[in-house]
Amino acid sequence: MLDHDILIVGGGLTGLRAAVGLCGRFNVGLISKVYPVRSHSIAAQGGINAALTNNPDSRDDSWEKHTFDTIKGSDYLADQDAVEIMCKEAIKIVYEMEHWGCPFSRFPDGTIAQRPFGGAGYPRTCYSSDITGHVLLNTLYERAVAKGVKIYPEWFVTALCIEEGRCHGVVALDIRTGELIPVRAKATFFGTGGYGRVYQHSTNALINTGSGIGMAYKAGAPLKDMEFVQFHPTCLIGTNILMTEACRGEGGYLFNNQGERFMQRYVPTAMELAPRDIVSRCIQTEINEGRGFEHPLGKYIQLDLRHLGSEKIIERLPGIRNICIDFIGIDPIIEPIPIMPCQHYSMGGIDVNERCASDIRGFYAGGECSCVSVHGGNRLGGNSLLETIVFGKLAAQAIAEDLAGGGALPDEKPLLNLKDEVEQKLRRLAIPGRGKPYRIQAELGAVLDEKVGIFRIRGEMEQALQKIAELKEEYRNVGVSSTARYMNFELINALELEYMLEVAHTITLGALLREESRGAHFRTDFKTRNDGDWLKHTIARMGSDGGPVISFKKVVITRYQPMERKY
Ligand SMILES: Cc1cc2nc3c(=O)[nH]c(=O)nc-3n(C[C@H](O)[C@H](O)[C@H](O)COP(=O)(O)OP(=O)(O)OC[C@H]3O[C@@H](n4cnc5c(N)ncnc54)[C@H](O)[C@@H]3O)c2cc1C
Repeated sequence: MLDHDILIVGGGLTGLRAAVGLCGRFNVGLISKVYPVRSHSIAAQGGINAALTNNPDSRDDSWEKHTFDTIKGSDYLADQDAVEIMCKEAIKIVYEMEHWGCPFSRFPDGTIAQRPFGGAGYPRTCYSSDITGHVLLNTLYERAVAKGVKIYPEWFVTALCIEEGRCHGVVALDIRTGELIPVRAKATFFGTGGYGRVYQHSTNALINTGSGIGMAYKAGAPLKDMEFVQFHPTCLIGTNILMTEACRGEGGYLFNNQGERFMQRYVPTAMELAPRDIVSRCIQTEINEGRGFEHPLGKYIQLDLRHLGSEKIIERLPGIRNICIDFIGIDPIIEPIPIMPCQHYSMGGIDVNERCASDIRGFYAGGECSCVSVHGGNRLGGNSLLETIVFGKLAAQAIAEDLAGGGALPDEKPLLNLKDEVEQKLRRLAIPGRGKPYRIQAELGAVLDEKVGIFRIRGEMEQALQKIAELKEEYRNVGVSSTARYMNFELINALELEYMLEVAHTITLGALLREESRGAHFRTDFKTRNDGDWLKHTIARMGSDGGPVISFKKVVITRYQPMERKY
């Protein structure tokens, strides 16, 4: 058994920022199933929002305006007190990252450069070319190493231990040795990222399975607003690789097969820079109504950057250009990019408050695996990198406060029992010749893509629920090909699949129950927002029969009364 004062699970921006805030004062351990700089945060391209007011075009910007844009973008589902905290902190954390050495792109006068992003009243997205996640993550990783954070890279957390309302720690598998190790802590913090890979078409890394969300739920933690799934408008055809919103922020256009800049018809003022939920629906509508282009890999819309000129493309979007050349042989300087919408971000997640505390003593969560909620029904581009660092920092402060009196390590017994349970599970999975986990995962992804996607309707979601129930049944009989415990990624995949099925179940049930359209959740059978009945969060807990039970929670409104969302 390993003991730490504080155990952090996740080596992305959230986990590393929390670790940096706590290390030195406490004995901190950080577990990550991949080497920290391989976390999905590294893939973030476009930028991080803060109302800096450097830029001549954003002199009148303010954290209050950032707050308003975020709340409006959320379709009024975000908790407004939490959004205020995030937008106020934004300015401090961007300068803090700068002072820690993060190489942001600059304006000619040396100030941090900012670009326009969707749903924002001012250019407030700070960036580093199109590798913002890369520079932020490396800066924080270096800081964590310098501070001496004890990192356990390539350890996979298999289960979270909660007993009688108290979190005890986790049981982890050392991927390289195959050893199962209980890790006990006074406080456990999850920064385990999103669940994108529950869908078949996703911009997310293969590692984004949402296992942290699923295991917290299974252990008894409630999940919030799981039906809100973000679909990014511009993903490269055939690969689902993200073509950052910065492509449109820098001035890119969207065209249908009539050569029409169709956003004119839907959102004439914001055009391509309307929020993501809206642009994704417009693109999907164009495709559904026959105005998409045909391609062996599917129907698509054109994202045209050519008019920006080669100099701007090479300076601001070099990664995008390289991806297009490497993956589909298209140079965006010469040809438009074929794109389609696909799953991108998890708005819902582990229910926590603005201190990242859950209602379970000693268990905290932040970043994409959590739902504070600052994004509500739809996240604005550039607000997620922001959330990770702000709430990583604030979680560290909250945990430090909660442990200020010292605090005792929890009882080890529940952890040892959980280890035995995991051991039994590993033995069951090692029986060969049974169903294969990858088949179930593929079917799960396909059903969510088809039936719980951008446009949703009762009958289809009922079919999806039925399918998920069948897949859960099949999961009882999965087995992996090799009995080896070390470096056995099929085994890890099989362990994660259990949690993916739970995550998918909560998404689908939440979406079926929410009979309105709000943010990214669009029901073709309930096309409008219904504040009278649905201005509330959904909370999913695992019921005694193993299925989710949904209850509701009030949305915190401070100064911004809900109104019609127009752009
Ligand atoms: C392609 C792409 C581009 C993006 N671009 C932007 C952008 O420009 N601006 C913006 O604001 N947002 C962007 N986002 C969103 C943003 O990058 C993410 O929401 C954010 O980085 C998530 O950070 P995180 O720390 O919560 O999780 P992650 O960075 O996903 O890290 C999760 C960590 O948890 C660990 N982990 C998970 N499960 C386990 C387990 N069971 N056991 C052990 N370890 C585990 C992983 O190893 C990893 O270290 C983008 C997302 C994608 C996919």
